[in-house]
Amino acid sequence: MTAQLRISRARLAQNIASVRARVAPAEVMVVVKDDAYRHGVETVASVVREAGVSWLGAIDLRSALRAKAAVGDAARVFCWLTLGTDETHKALTGGLELGVGDAAYLERIADAAAGTAVVHLKIDTGLHRNGVRPEQWPAFVGRAAELERAGRIRVAGIWSHISEASDEDDDVARAAFDVAVEVAREAGLAPEVRHLAASAAGWAREEFRYDLVRFGAFVYGVRSADGPVLPGIVPVATLVAPVVAVRGDEVEIGIGSLDGLPSSLAGVADVGTPGGSRALLRVALGSSVVAAWPGAAVGDEVAVWGDGARGESSSTTLAEAIGTVGEEPLLRLSPLIPRVVVD
Ligand SMILES: *Cc1c(COP(=O)(O)O)cnc(C)c1O
Repeated sequence: MTAQLRISRARLAQNIASVRARVAPAEVMVVVKDDAYRHGVETVASVVREAGVSWLGAIDLRSALRAKAAVGDAARVFCWLTLGTDETHKALTGGLELGVGDAAYLERIADAAAGTAVVHLKIDTGLHRNGVRPEQWPAFVGRAAELERAGRIRVAGIWSHISEASDEDDDVARAAFDVAVEVAREAGLAPEVRHLAASAAGWAREEFRYDLVRFGAFVYGVRSADGPVLPGIVPVATLVAPVVAVRGDEVEIGIGSLDGLPSSLAGVADVGTPGGSRALLRVALGSSVVAAWPGAAVGDEVAVWGDGARGESSSTTLAEAIGTVGEEPLLRLSPLIPRVVVD
């Protein structure tokens, strides 16, 4: 056996049910960026389909098309990276709905559309990452309304993204968002969905949910760093590694920093073993050393992080211990670590 990332479909389904119940009547968009936070776009899309969730979201075209292929007509797929001309064609042919945060891109989409392109217009509410600035918004939505009347586009949504770093900043962003929606309506647009929040604000603050909440982290059971443990949300992935040698009171396991295990975890993390929780003592390139348990043997399996069933910490708890965000231990993992999907 080698190290592997075990993905539980049941836990994924549980988290999806939990976030849906939490934000209803608002709907949930399951975000599958970074290959579904390493869980695998196809795996997540198939659970989403079974659950009957109606939205998936991805940044880049490739992941969005993979998500659409996996989910078919069962869900709408939103893709929010600004695409070039060729990619825009592919996205529209592939049935994606596009996030548009710049005026030139809106024209590109209208030109590429064979039928009616479905778009979600993005206002910049302060993050300055992407999105139309408030001073340009009236002209932008005016042009969108013109293109909509001409049948080239349909404005299905108005959206933005917030930092979720402080409630005060988020409140300012929300006020700017409300103004933008109002201006869009005055221009003659009638968006079906307004979406602003991701996991943290969507979970905690009702007034941020609008019609749709884009959930990434919480769907995968990743908490906000330094955030509370959330009812009904469980880690979906467990990173396991085999025992490769036993030496006195130390046990060597087959995963190291080259596999993406941060070496800064040595001395601060507890892993789960057949004998319960044990300290992670050292992290080398291709292997790591853990405090032994009675009867430790080559071939035993150790949970490096996961849902706590064997005494291991969650990836978020480990991330907190080394001062990073909860998804980091997942995203750092080498793509060579096989993923195994379990029920
Ligand atoms: C990553 C991302 C999300 C999901 O964020 P989480 O905090 O992981 O829930 C939602 N919307 C956008 C635009 C994103 O980039």
